[in-house]
Amino acid sequence: MKRIVVFFLVLLLFAGCAPKGEAVSAPAPTATAAPSPTPFATNAPVQELQVELSPAAATATPVAVPTEAPTPEPTEAPEPTATAEPGPLSGRIIGVDPGHQLVYDPKPEPMAPNSRETKQRTAGGTRGVRTGTYEYEVNRAVGLELRDLLQAAGAQVVLTHEVLDVNISNIERAQMFNEANVDLGIRLHCNGNDNQKNRGCFLMVPSQNRTAFFDENVAAAKAILEAYCQETGLSSRYKEGITYHSNQTGFNWCTRPIVTIEMGHLTNPEEDALLSDPAFQKTMAMGLYKGILAYFEAKD
Ligand SMILES: [Zn+2]
Repeated sequence: MKRIVVFFLVLLLFAGCAPKGEAVSAPAPTATAAPSPTPFATNAPVQELQVELSPAAATATPVAVPTEAPTPEPTEAPEPTATAEPGPLSGRIIGVDPGHQLVYDPKPEPMAPNSRETKQRTAGGTRGVRTGTYEYEVNRAVGLELRDLLQAAGAQVVLTHEVLDVNISNIERAQMFNEANVDLGIRLHCNGNDNQKNRGCFLMVPSQNRTAFFDENVAAAKAILEAYCQETGLSSRYKEGITYHSNQTGFNWCTRPIVTIEMGHLTNPEEDALLSDPAFQKTMAMGLYKGILAYFEAKD
C-alpha cells in the first residue's frame, strides 16, 4: 500500500497545470517514461494536486484528500487602481489574475453557471523540476510587473491578489473581473507536463459557445502570443498557440473578454530556470504588456 501511495504522489507531482483531458496534454507517458524522483519529490505538499481524479482513482489515493482545507472567506472585488498617468491605455480597465495561491482549496464549486459539474475552487498548480519554484510564485511575480507596466500606460488594473496567502476561487476571480467591467482579463499560468521535453507557451480562450466575446478573445490571444514569444524568445507549439476550452471555471463565469496564458513549462528544466529568474519574469511581463497594447491599438 505504501508503494501505491508513493506512486500516486509522484503522479500528482507531475500533474500539469492544464486541465486533464484537454487538447494541450502531451502524449500519455509510457511505462518507461515515468518521471524519476526529483529533489523536491519527498517534500512537495499534497496541494500540488491539479488533475481531477476519477472516482476510482480518488478512492485508491487517500493522499489526494487534503486534511487542511482553508475556510473560504467572502472576497470583495478590489477597486481598480487609480491612475493619473495618461497613456496609450488610458480609459482601459484590465484584469490580471495570477493563477493559484499559497494553499489550494479543493472544495467544489460549479464549473459554470447552472452546472451540476464541479471543480475545485483553486488548484495547486505545477512546480519547477529544476528550481522547485512554485507556479504561484512565478504567476504572482509576473502579475505584479505587468500591473506596473499597464498602470504606467494609463490603464486601471484589477489585480485579483497581491499576496499569496489568500483564498480566492476561480469563480470569485471571474466575478472580480465582471464587477470591474474589465475591457480584457488575463489569467497568468505556467504549464506542467509529464514529459519534461514539452516546452513553450500557449494561449487559452473560452470555446465559442461559452462567451459573447469570442472574436475579441481570439484577437487578444493572437496579439499576446505574438508579442510574448517575440519578447521572451519562447516557442509556441500547441495548435498554433491557441486552444479553446469549455470546462474552465474561470472562463465560464466570466462575462467579459478573457484569455489565459500558459507562460511556459515549469516541468521543462531549461524553461524552469528561465521562468524562475526575476530578470526573465520582467521580460515575460513586458511581452504580455506589448501584446495587450497591440490588441487595443488594433481594436481602435
Ligand atoms: Zn496554473
